[in-house]
Amino acid sequence: MITITDAPSPNHDTRADPPDMVVLHYTGMQTGAAALDRLCDKAAKVSSHYLIEEDGRVFQLVDEERRAWHAGVSCWAEREGLNDVSIGIEIVNPGHEWGYRTFPEPQMAAVEALVGDILRRRAIRVERVVGHSDIAPTRKDDPGELFDWRRLAHAGLAIWPDAANEEEAGRMLDPEGFAALARALRASGYDTADFQATLRAFRRRFRPKTLDGVPVMRDFLIAREVAARWPAQL
Ligand SMILES: [Zn+2]
Repeated sequence: MITITDAPSPNHDTRADPPDMVVLHYTGMQTGAAALDRLCDKAAKVSSHYLIEEDGRVFQLVDEERRAWHAGVSCWAEREGLNDVSIGIEIVNPGHEWGYRTFPEPQMAAVEALVGDILRRRAIRVERVVGHSDIAPTRKDDPGELFDWRRLAHAGLAIWPDAANEEEAGRMLDPEGFAALARALRASGYDTADFQATLRAFRRRFRPKTLDGVPVMRDFLIAREVAARWPAQL
């Protein structure tokens, strides 16, 4: 059972379509209270549907039927402006700027409860649960490499390819392998206009200990598995 406290934000407008995607964020501010204030400040012109505190408290800021303003310039599966079709969840964490840290257990349990409830109610597919960095790789790092996507996947609420459990990187990709990796990333939903930024976002999800470095066979194997098991509907 999940207890949700109303904390209405004035920052919302009309959706183009019903939501069929969930976007996870971190707040990236010093405290959860400061983040909640900002997301409810008319002048800030930002919001999310939900905010989850580190102690697991869940706040609802915007009705799911309305469009919240969390994704900004974004692209997934060749669709842009994803506020139109997504539910945004802000997870309290200082982020890379203010002291990025592990997401505590009560908070992760609340993320699972909330995302589980949304996916069941709206029949949203697991591959449509993504991070902000996945849909805005040149601008965003959140929820970041400390977010436990594997745990979420074990609960049936996100994807986790078997190839991501292997540590061995394998050889550097040749130009052909490089092109195949880019194709697999696009088939998974990513916009590859900036390939380096996209690869980094992809690694935050699936190779979180290895954000840097040239594309290797492990990247391709993971991307190929994602594209095969959870193809984006392009
Ligand atoms: Zn974000």
